[in-house]
Amino acid sequence: MSRPFDLDPIFRSLTALPGVGPRNAKLFERLTGGPKVLDLLWHLPIDFVDRRFSPKISGAPDGKIATLALKIGKHFPNAKKGQPYRVWCTDDTGTINLVFFHANKGWIEKQLPEGADLIVSGRVEYYNGNPQIVHPDAIAKPEDRTAIEIMEPVYPLTQGLTNQAVRKALQASLKFVPAMPEWLDPALKKRENWPDWNSALRAAHQPEDEHGLSPLHPARARLAYDELLANQLTLALVRRQQKKKAGRSFKTPGLLKEKLIAALPFALTGAQKRTLAEIESDMVQPLRMLRLLQGDVGSGKTIVACLAMLGAVESGAQAALMAPTEILARQHAQSLKPWLDMAGVRSLVLTGRDKGKAREALLEHIRNGEAQIVIGTHALFQDDIEFSNLGLAVIDEQHRFGVHQRLQLSAKGKGTDILVMTATPIPRTLALTAYGDMDVSRLDEKPPGRRPIETLLLPSDRLEDMVAGLKRRIGQGARVYWVCPLVEESELLDLAAATERHETLQNWFGDRVGLIHGRLKPDEKDSVMEKFTAGDLDVLVATTVIEVGVDVPEATIMVIEHAERFGLSQLHQLRGRVGRGAQQSYCFLMYAPPLGEIAKERLSIMRATEDGFVLAEKDLELRGGGDALGVRQSGMPGFRLADLSVHGGLLSVAHDDARLLLEKDPDLSTPRGQALKTLLYLFEQDQAIQYLRSG
Ligand code: ADP
Ligand code: MG
Repeated sequence: MSRPFDLDPIFRSLTALPGVGPRNAKLFERLTGGPKVLDLLWHLPIDFVDRRFSPKISGAPDGKIATLALKIGKHFPNAKKGQPYRVWCTDDTGTINLVFFHANKGWIEKQLPEGADLIVSGRVEYYNGNPQIVHPDAIAKPEDRTAIEIMEPVYPLTQGLTNQAVRKALQASLKFVPAMPEWLDPALKKRENWPDWNSALRAAHQPEDEHGLSPLHPARARLAYDELLANQLTLALVRRQQKKKAGRSFKTPGLLKEKLIAALPFALTGAQKRTLAEIESDMVQPLRMLRLLQGDVGSGKTIVACLAMLGAVESGAQAALMAPTEILARQHAQSLKPWLDMAGVRSLVLTGRDKGKAREALLEHIRNGEAQIVIGTHALFQDDIEFSNLGLAVIDEQHRFGVHQRLQLSAKGKGTDILVMTATPIPRTLALTAYGDMDVSRLDEKPPGRRPIETLLLPSDRLEDMVAGLKRRIGQGARVYWVCPLVEESELLDLAAATERHETLQNWFGDRVGLIHGRLKPDEKDSVMEKFTAGDLDVLVATTVIEVGVDVPEATIMVIEHAERFGLSQLHQLRGRVGRGAQQSYCFLMYAPPLGEIAKERLSIMRATEDGFVLAEKDLELRGGGDALGVRQSGMPGFRLADLSVHGGLLSVAHDDARLLLEKDPDLSTPRGQALKTLLYLFEQDQAIQYLRSG
C-alpha cells in the first residue's frame, strides 16, 4: 500500500504554490522546517489583526488599525535621504497621508497611482494633528475589499518573509487540502466537541478572537490530538511488530542470582527488588521483552541489569550490555567484574579500541559462547559480530541510541529480550511519546545512606570568594567539576568561554586543571577523563558534554556557571555527577543577576529537591514539552501541533485509544482503520505502515 493519491497535493513542494519560487521556498522551509505544502499547513498563527473596522477618515481614531476606502492624491517624494515619501489621500470626510521611509519610488508609483480608488489598511496615527498611516499593511482594489476586511492571522515569520506572503501562501495551500475521512473515535469527538479535520485546519488558521489562538481551542486541540494519535499508533505498531517475533522463555531456579545477592555487601532496595521482579516476569514469558528501566543517577540500575543478565546466562544464553561511550563501557566492565566473578560468569569487553588480532580473538569468544556476558559500545552492532546465542541485550543510556540501533542489536539474536536503561527522569507524558512501545519500570528509591548534596546559589560577582573556598577544599582532597556557560547554542562560543575559563582557573589553581569539550577527539576525551578519575587533575573544566553516567566518587564539587541558562533537567543531570561517594558534596549554581521569574523558580527548585522525577515534571511545566531538556538530546519526537505541557492529558487518551483500536482492528481494515492509515500517512509514519503491510 502506498500513500493515497488524495494526499499528493499537500505532499508537493512549496514551489507548487503560486507566488513561491525556489528562493522563496528556501525561506519558507527555514520557517516551517520542511519543503512541503503540508509543512506550511502545520504553521499556525500566533496572533491576529482585526481589519474589519472600516471607518471614514474623520472617524479613524489614533492608534487603531483601520481599513479605509481612499482616493489617491498627489505624491510628495522625499527631498532628502532620511525624509519620508508621502502620498496624499482623501475621502469625503477628510485627508490622510500614507508615509514611506526608505521609499522605493517606482514601487510606490505603481501601487498608488494618482487618481485611483483603493482600499488601504494599516494603523492610523496622528502626527502634528493630522492622520497618517506609516507603511500600510495592505493595498487593494475596491473589488478585493472583502479579502482585506477580515480578521487577519499573524504568523511567526523569518527574515525575508512578510506576513502577507505567508498568508497568501497559506491561503493557496488550503486549496490543496483534500477531503479527509474521519479517523477519530466518534464518542471522543463528540465529548470534546471537536470539528472535522478540514474545518479544524481552517479554523486554526482563522482565529476569530484570543480563544482561537489557545492550544485548548477545539480546532487546535483536535489537530494536536491527531498528531498524538498518529504517534501512539505508530509506537503501538512498532511494539506489536517487535513482540510478534517469538521471544524466548528463560525459566531458571535463579541460582546465580541467589549466589550474587548473598555475596553483595548491601541489600537490594525495595525498588530494585520490584523492578527486577518485573523484568524477570517478562523474561519468563515466551514473548519478547521490551522494557525501559528508568532510574535517576545513582539509583542502582547496574546491579539490577546484572542480575537480569545472570538469569539469561543461567539458562544457557548470552547477555550483552551496551554503553554509549568507550569510557562508560569500560566503567561498566569494571563495576560488573567483581559481581560476575562472585557468580562465576565469564565476560569480556569489546569497544572500538580493539583492533586486529586482539579483536579477532574477542569475536571468536563471542561466536563460540565462551563469553557469557559481553560488555561494549556500539562496536557490538557491527556486522561481523556474531553471538552464539544472544538472549538478553541491555542498553544503557538509551538517549544516545536511536530506535534504529535498538532494532539492529536485537537482530543479532532470535527473539532477544531488550532492556533499556536511562537516567533521564522522563516525565510520564514524555515517556509515552518516546517509549510508548515499551513497558516501563521505575527505580524511584535510592540506596540508603546517601548524603544529600548541598546546593548553593551564588551571584557571579562572588566568583573570587568561591575560588578561595575551593582552594581550601582541594587542599583537603576534593575534586571539582566546573561547567561553563552555554552561549546561545553555539558550540564555538561555548568552547571559547570554556577555554578562557580554563586559563583563568589555571592562574588560580596551577596546572592541575583540565579541559574537556565536544571538539576533542574521543581518545583525547578519554585521556582527560582518565586523568581526572585518577586524581591527576583537581579541576575539570567542561562544556556541557560531561559524559553522562561517568562515575568519579572523589568528585564532590560541581560548579555551574550561568546556571540560569540551563534547563532543570540539565542542571539535575549535571549535579548528579557529584554526591556519589561517602563525602559531603556541594553544587554551586552561579548566576548573573538579575534573574527572570522562570530562572528564579528553576534555581530555587534545584535547591529544594534532588528528586529527578519532580524536577523533570517541573521542567516540562516551565519550558513546555518541545524544549524540556534531555528531550531534544534524547531524540524524542518533536511535535508540530501538540504541546505536551498543555496536551499531556490528550496523550494518555491517545495512548489508550491506539492500544484499544489495534486490539479490535489489528489490520486497520474497518472504515475507521482505513481512515487511520490516512492519518499515519499524513504524519509521515510510513514505517508504521510497513509494519501493517508485513502483516
Ligand atoms: P546508576 O543507576 O546511576 O547506574 P549504579 O548502578 O552505578 O547507579 O549504582 C550507584 C552505586 O550504588 C554503585 O556504587 C552501586 O554499587 C551502589 N548500589 C547499588 N544498589 C545499592 C544498594 N541497594 N545499596 C547500597 N548501594 C547500592
Ligand atoms: Mg549507570
